[in-house]
Amino acid sequence: MKLSSTDISEVKDIGAVRKKALNSAGIFSVEDLLYYFPRRYLDRKTIQPIANIIMDPGEMTFIAKLFKVKLFPAKNYKTRLHAAFSDGTGILTCIWFQGGEYVKNILVEGEEYILSGVPKYFGGWKIDHPVIERMDDEANLKNTGKIIPLYPLTAALTSKNIDSRVLRRLVSNALDDFSGMLSDELPEALREYHKFPGLEDSVKQLHFPESDESRRSALRRMKYEEFFHLQLVMCRRRMMIISAPKQNRITGSGDLLKKLYSKLPFELTGAQKKVVREIFDDLKSDKVMNRMLQGDVGSGKTVVALLAMAMMAGSGYQSAVMAPTEILAEQHYRVFSSMCEGLDIEMCLITGKMKKSVREERLSAIAEGRTKIVIGTHAVIQDGVEFNDLGLVIIDEQHRFGVMQRGELVKKAEHAPNILVMSATPIPRTLSLSLYGDLDISIIDSLPSGRKPVKTAVRGDNDMNRVYDFIRSEVKNGRQAYIVYPLIEKTGKSDLKAAVDGFEELSEGVFKNIPVELLHGRMTGEEKDRIMKSFKDGEIKILVSTTVIEVGVDVPNSTVMLVMHSERFGLSQLHQLRGRVGRGSHQSYCILHMAKTENDDTLKRVKVMETTNDGFAISEADFELRGPGEFFGEKQSGMTDLKLAHLIYDRELLITARKDAFEMLQKDPVLSSYPLLRDFMNEKFKDKVQFLDYS
Ligand code: ADP
Ligand code: MG
Repeated sequence: MKLSSTDISEVKDIGAVRKKALNSAGIFSVEDLLYYFPRRYLDRKTIQPIANIIMDPGEMTFIAKLFKVKLFPAKNYKTRLHAAFSDGTGILTCIWFQGGEYVKNILVEGEEYILSGVPKYFGGWKIDHPVIERMDDEANLKNTGKIIPLYPLTAALTSKNIDSRVLRRLVSNALDDFSGMLSDELPEALREYHKFPGLEDSVKQLHFPESDESRRSALRRMKYEEFFHLQLVMCRRRMMIISAPKQNRITGSGDLLKKLYSKLPFELTGAQKKVVREIFDDLKSDKVMNRMLQGDVGSGKTVVALLAMAMMAGSGYQSAVMAPTEILAEQHYRVFSSMCEGLDIEMCLITGKMKKSVREERLSAIAEGRTKIVIGTHAVIQDGVEFNDLGLVIIDEQHRFGVMQRGELVKKAEHAPNILVMSATPIPRTLSLSLYGDLDISIIDSLPSGRKPVKTAVRGDNDMNRVYDFIRSEVKNGRQAYIVYPLIEKTGKSDLKAAVDGFEELSEGVFKNIPVELLHGRMTGEEKDRIMKSFKDGEIKILVSTTVIEVGVDVPNSTVMLVMHSERFGLSQLHQLRGRVGRGSHQSYCILHMAKTENDDTLKRVKVMETTNDGFAISEADFELRGPGEFFGEKQSGMTDLKLAHLIYDRELLITARKDAFEMLQKDPVLSSYPLLRDFMNEKFKDKVQFLDYS
């Protein structure tokens, strides 16, 4: 019996109701439950009387009785919760600026709680957002040790009264019932070399630590293992790519490339030329290209992609380019068609919403090999698209796709195709090791000449009339503007201005006599295309939109990017949005509207945008602030495999794990001496890579 396929209802005290709640938190198997680790711990050794607080104390822990709870409505949509506690030596007020209504429901006056956080003096001792746990006999009994685990709780869990206390009991039951059944697939030699505890012991120590030390070394092992698995995948993939026989090597005179080159509407920058050269060398060599092209927004990656495809077409091979949105795919199609006018390269666009007859016609031209360049969204990888001789796959704005989709496209080709992934998000080094450890990297490190840096300013509600005046004057001078909102329609209690409302208000109000249009993701492909085209042609002067225009959109005549409620966006996202302007020779402006806030951190975060135009600095700041999951905006497969390990704080472990994984596969490419590990890897990463012995 494997714990990964043993249902949680096999665990004592888990019936239908709890099972359902646990399922909705992503816990299905006994293994899932055992791997549902605490988020924080309370250390009871450090408990102190409230009277002991001194100035600037750092984190402290108290046991105190709750005597009063009060909810304050605040000026904006948030409410604030104050809860006063006493331990007989003093009074401590805990404050929640967020989620107060929810916390209020679980607090009971007269009960004792364990609280921890950093006290601040503000007309009395206060703690903002403390870590809190109800004291009761059960907590005391279950925890023979002094460190109390606190679990991440979802609404589904708490609605069925599953809190940290209950989870502790369920986990403890599972550990008792299935003792000795967690199989440890980390090779013995590595475990001994790094002095790691065994798997079951590590899991126990994370749930019920005997000491801080034992918890730490358990955590180290678990983090290491997460990195180790991912690096095995990377290394295996790299080995397979390198060893794959290459059929699609470019040959011939390169006439097509030369013709296209001489027709380009501009001279390539030095950085672009260097990258084109690197790609050319790769395509000519007898190893399959597997390259990432990194370049800040507006650095001119698109034309590089086109040149690479022309190299392939010149030797008779097909190329496919995938963009994350239809708007961008359509734009690429337009740009490529116009640059290739008069040259003999057939190209087509594949999106999800084409007429059946059109689609079939295009598909058969692709299957017969007539079409050399296929441009599309993820529709390109859907079933039904068959290539005749796919030699190159380009993925634009890679960070918007998962790692897995890259694999999907590769499977389309009979022989491993060359791969070029492009990204504007400069990726911190640890991250690229872990996500793209199998790629070579090219960098475009300068912008086309003649660009003026975009001027950026943060503005509040009271400044908006002046901002609108400014937009009107830019339009009068022949320029265009974007106004971006975080949501499509107004939802619930939030007072965020939605794009639809904003559009109505503005187009009937301050911009009454100016052509304004609305663009959002729920429109059909045709509508979006029509609007983008007429914006590009300058008929529409102001485009009110959601973040559908975030990536890639290129209209050099637009000079103003106004982002409403910029506090709702991540910095990398704001940088992407800002990258929509400053693409021509006119001075451009990025105006970041911010709702009034009591939160200094939010203001500080958005203000970073005023201080730098450097995508790399912004991405590092963003990554530090928000962590890798949110950093990418969307789920990045591969990232979701990291539950405990942190790409920045644990980089040392990452590098060690990478070295170990590469050394191991060098000696034993399909893990034949490690059957436990091999089976585990083949199961867990079945969509990504396989360790199989074909010999
Ligand atoms: P990104 O790297 O963000 O994808 P694009 O490829 O969309 O950037 O290029 C941004 C703009 O710069 C486009 O309008 C493009 O035509 C223009 N451009 C690209 N390369 C050059 C160059 N060497 N000289 C002048 N303009 C260029
Ligand atoms: Mg682009």
